[in-house]
Amino acid sequence: MSESERIDFFKKSLELHRLYKGKIETVPKVPAGGRILFSLWYTPGVAEPAKVAASNPDEVFELTNRWNTVMIISDGTRVLGLGKLGPEGALPVMEGKALLFKYLGGVDAIPIVVRERDLEKLIYIVKTLEPSFGGVNLEDIESPKCFDLLERLRQELEIPVWHDDQQGTALVTIAGLINALKLVGKRLQDIRVAVIGAGAAGIAIIRYLIVAGVKPGNIIAVDSKGILYRDRPDLKSGDPRLKWKRWVAERTNEEGRTGGIPEAMKGADVVIGVSRPGPGVIKKEWVKLMNDNPIVFAEANPIPEIWPWEAKEAGAKVVATGRSDFPNQINNSLGFPAVFRGALTVRARKITDEMCIAAAYALASYAEKKGISEDYIIPTMDETEAYIEEAIAVAEKAIEQGVARRKPTKQELEEEIREMIMRPKKYLEIALREGLVKKAPI
Ligand code: NAD
Repeated sequence: MSESERIDFFKKSLELHRLYKGKIETVPKVPAGGRILFSLWYTPGVAEPAKVAASNPDEVFELTNRWNTVMIISDGTRVLGLGKLGPEGALPVMEGKALLFKYLGGVDAIPIVVRERDLEKLIYIVKTLEPSFGGVNLEDIESPKCFDLLERLRQELEIPVWHDDQQGTALVTIAGLINALKLVGKRLQDIRVAVIGAGAAGIAIIRYLIVAGVKPGNIIAVDSKGILYRDRPDLKSGDPRLKWKRWVAERTNEEGRTGGIPEAMKGADVVIGVSRPGPGVIKKEWVKLMNDNPIVFAEANPIPEIWPWEAKEAGAKVVATGRSDFPNQINNSLGFPAVFRGALTVRARKITDEMCIAAAYALASYAEKKGISEDYIIPTMDETEAYIEEAIAVAEKAIEQGVARRKPTKQELEEEIREMIMRPKKYLEIALREGLVKKAPI
């Protein structure tokens, strides 16, 4: 995109937002109208389900839409790559996320932006809101606060909690990596991985790499101060904000390497960049230091750490980025809609790491069935069947791990999930046809 095309693109987005005045709305899902129906759905009839839910709280998942409703909560401290935009700046982004939740996963998501940044108060807010929701999606919250927030809420709530910048990125990265490794004939348990960037995305990717089978000692992480190693002075300082980086330093980098990005990439089979926009963060000559058939995932947005063509010129066999205009987009939207679809369908109490890895394998296997190549290691956003298979895999893993409140059969799961994923697409088709939603002037 040229500079003037870029300016026009952002202007268009603003124009469309002004025109539509919101990207989601509430619509009834029951027949309504007329005195009798209203008195059944609302007072006096609703007193009966109210009493049943009060005496048995799990019943609320059967009597209301709680089971399919996710809170998207943000304090606006790290909105996209734009920093601390605050709650108002965060709201258009959260609405966009809600649209993706609904359109791709059939999940009703409510954007909630709060004028509060304190960790303990955020925990309190989410916990008090828990009774209205089937799940929580933390969004655009700065690190390291996001780590503690996720960890505490995962422990303290009885509904799934998710932070897309962590788990979503890690899930889709692992899905791409599974297929990239097939193309070069390597196995997760044998590879050496350099992870450039040890923030929300980097630390979650390291955690999931380990759950997926990569040897922790074979991972080397780098942040803006260089390679993370056990005795690095800042990490030994006891600073509580560095707790999660210490967690990484204590488990990874068995050789105790020191230095920067080139030292971390030397001999690596895979480099995963989740650091800061490039180009030039990862250099061509450093790709040449890697093992044979190197895999380069340069995920920084909006510009990858190294341009894909540069990585290829330096010998990279498979290259992925975060962008839709290059092949192999590591796109979080391939993860959260289906993960929540699967988790909510079985009323899961948690989203475990294993459920995420199951989702990654389902995505990878969908692409493999279609035929993987250097330019197609992961499905794209419009491959609806990939979402259905992924959601089923998540639901089955939840049942297997004992975190599901419901245990439908495989066939029931498939029917229910397909129905929920197709529903908003059919709805929108009708709404567009009937003029209830105006066609976009683009
Ligand atoms: P973050 O701020 O939490 O972490 C960034 C990390 O990168 C920090 O550890 C920082 O020290 C490190 N870093 C910065 N400059 C560096 C350099 N020159 N060398 C080495 N390390 C450096 O941010 P985050 O949420 O983890 O996101 C990081 C990047 O990944 C962003 O560019 C973001 O857009 C991108 N990202 C992409 C996707 C995707 O495409 N699917 C998803 C999530 C994040």
